[in-house]
Amino acid sequence: MQSKITNIHARQVLDSRGNPTLECDVILESGVLGRAMVPSGASTGEHEAVELRDGEDAFGGKGVARAVGNVNQVLAPRLIGMDATDQGAIDALMIEADGSPNKGVLGANAMLGISLASARAGALASGQPLYRYLGGDDAHVLPVPMLNILNGGKHADNTVDFKEFMIQPQGFADFQSAMRAGVEIYHCLSTVLHEQKLSTAVGDEGGFAPDLGSNEEALEMIARAVDRSAYSLGDKIFIALDPATSELANEADGKGYRFFKSDPDRIVDADAMTQLWSDWCDRWPIRSIEDGLAENDWDGWAGLTRALGDTVQLVGDDLFVTNQEFLQRGIDQGCANAILVKVNQIGTLTETLQVMDLARRSGYASVCSHRSGETEDSTIADIAVATNCGQIKTGAPCRSDRNAKYNQLFRIAEQLGDAAVYAGASPSGAGTSSS
Ligand code: PGA
Ligand code: ZN
Repeated sequence: MQSKITNIHARQVLDSRGNPTLECDVILESGVLGRAMVPSGASTGEHEAVELRDGEDAFGGKGVARAVGNVNQVLAPRLIGMDATDQGAIDALMIEADGSPNKGVLGANAMLGISLASARAGALASGQPLYRYLGGDDAHVLPVPMLNILNGGKHADNTVDFKEFMIQPQGFADFQSAMRAGVEIYHCLSTVLHEQKLSTAVGDEGGFAPDLGSNEEALEMIARAVDRSAYSLGDKIFIALDPATSELANEADGKGYRFFKSDPDRIVDADAMTQLWSDWCDRWPIRSIEDGLAENDWDGWAGLTRALGDTVQLVGDDLFVTNQEFLQRGIDQGCANAILVKVNQIGTLTETLQVMDLARRSGYASVCSHRSGETEDSTIADIAVATNCGQIKTGAPCRSDRNAKYNQLFRIAEQLGDAAVYAGASPSGAGTSSS
């Protein structure tokens, strides 16, 4: 058996924020080595699988020595001898070995490292690129990027409450020209901010993080940047938002949504938040809103979906935490029409692909996503193409942890050649609720 696992070894490395994270090597009898690194969130959903941290003095409690130990001492001995291409069996064994509902015993970071490294080893053993190994012959759709060019919320030390102001290039013939537009607008935004004497320092995901007079001013800055570029807003360039309102709810102690950075005295309810999104959608070409309401506000979400779900993509991130049970609840209760997919929210590749399949069967779009704490690992780019999901969210086109994903998509586009289809080839493409 060429793809028999002979060794599994994890180590502690560093992520883009300078925090420890786990890297895992899966080594096969043939000598093939599959490697993966685990990302980490800042605005994490309450129901995410558990990221095991040491909680002691070193690294401010963020060390991952325990998770590393769980790979090397607990999981490796059980998995050695298995076939790396048997992804389902590997992931099932880890879930069983952990035995808890949220992977809190061994750690989702320990499990994800092995899960993704096994997939990489399996792909190498079969002589295929990862997207083809995972997605088969049909994998050919290059995703529309959601480029987070202006950061706020928990990702930036500024006055903006909402976490992500993104652009989506649509109506481009291919992924490369869509990215070119995104990059040119990103640089125009830098010029616009500089001219206004605003900071061009960047936040965790590579977007600019200026202090602004209001949240909506972020959109005004982006509009000015697009005006300066060769493109026009609402024609081929659309807005996507991730206000990450679970954070606004956390700051309000269950009383609603607090504008904790711009105006801490302002607390509003779900109806007012829904109205705000509706007003913004009237004024701006917004295609997608993620976490427009908080993770436990299921009734509010149903109302938001009734109000805007026919015209705007409403993405559940903290709401669904890449978990089939939560997604099923959303489907049953009419909440959202899309899911954000983050591999470390659930902790195994098998479960990630299953939740994307449930979304597809239920008419929900899937957006493959990075975390705010990232590494040079670019697996999510391959997953996006493997599943033909049509959308990827992986930050501004700035900082190598973000560009690692975009750069991998350039390689895949080149490999696919004429077979590549850009999901945003039509201006009404991905990012509308019908996609
Ligand atoms: P996080 O941010 O990785 O800090 O959770 C990304 C997101 O909310 O989409
Ligand atoms: Zn989010």
